Amino acid sequence: MRIAALRGPERFEVEEAPVPVPRPDEVVVRVVASGVCASELEPWVDGPPTGEVRYPGHEVSGVVTEVGSDVTTLAAGARVGVWVTERGFAEYVAVRAAYCFPAGDGPLDLALAEPIACAVNAVEAADVRLGDDVVVIGAGFMGNLVQRLAALRGPRRLVVADARGDALERARRLGATDVVDVTADDLAARVRALTGGRGADVTFECTGTQRALTACGDTTRMSGTIAVVGYHQGAERTLPLAFWNWMAFRLVNAHFRDLAVIMRGMEVGMRLHAAGRLPTDDLVSHRFPLDDVNKAFATLRDKPPGFVKAVITFPEVE
Ligand SMILES: [Zn+2]
Repeated sequence: MRIAALRGPERFEVEEAPVPVPRPDEVVVRVVASGVCASELEPWVDGPPTGEVRYPGHEVSGVVTEVGSDVTTLAAGARVGVWVTERGFAEYVAVRAAYCFPAGDGPLDLALAEPIACAVNAVEAADVRLGDDVVVIGAGFMGNLVQRLAALRGPRRLVVADARGDALERARRLGATDVVDVTADDLAARVRALTGGRGADVTFECTGTQRALTACGDTTRMSGTIAVVGYHQGAERTLPLAFWNWMAFRLVNAHFRDLAVIMRGMEVGMRLHAAGRLPTDDLVSHRFPLDDVNKAFATLRDKPPGFVKAVITFPEVE
């Protein structure tokens, strides 16, 4: 089979490797789609330490081809979204059967279980309540997922902010009650106007930038919740913690490392997705074959107009 190996800065090489053999509690999945994650961008730009090789790719969906001797819950042919931590940019991957979740009958390139799980856990941890006023800063892929899931919780206002016109148009199509172009409008003032001067009950930071993080303190009401969903890499971030403390904000660090939490988010998210309650068809904007994996990462880096999410896809033979 073929697998993408990261061998240098911005340099994946597609190489041959044996198809994995499942351990007793594992299955082998023929990969149909593997999402390109923002968290993998820096490692791609920098490359691995000299002389080392990395095999990234963790947003995998596909079809089970082989099951280990102890596996009773899955059979060959099952369509699944799975939890893997690496080796996802490959034609086949071995994964514990317990980490596979039914993907339903829809296109598998839309059943990206791992980011869906993150968004589910973020919305659950932030605990959006019926009638809440919610702000989502950042209308990229994660922001869109968070927006859709927050909408399922029945907010009053669902305000989405971004600097890109196409992203705001999409946010509106996805059901935002209000969109704010932060290049032209004062977000905090708009939120105050929309909430009777009070501020949002919950603000989701979905960009991973200092600017958006800082803005959360100005959009959230006293004793409201700030959920940090964006992946903050690179330089240190600073918070006006004295002010945030005085405002009695509840801070939710919506980055999940506990396996049980991730699994539960995946189960809930795939249940919603497979039932059509969490559509993602307008969120996967770019598809690339494995040979173009570097191009896929460059597209994530450059974010051309209309970009939401890049996915490596493998021809589905069924
Ligand atoms: Zn990811």
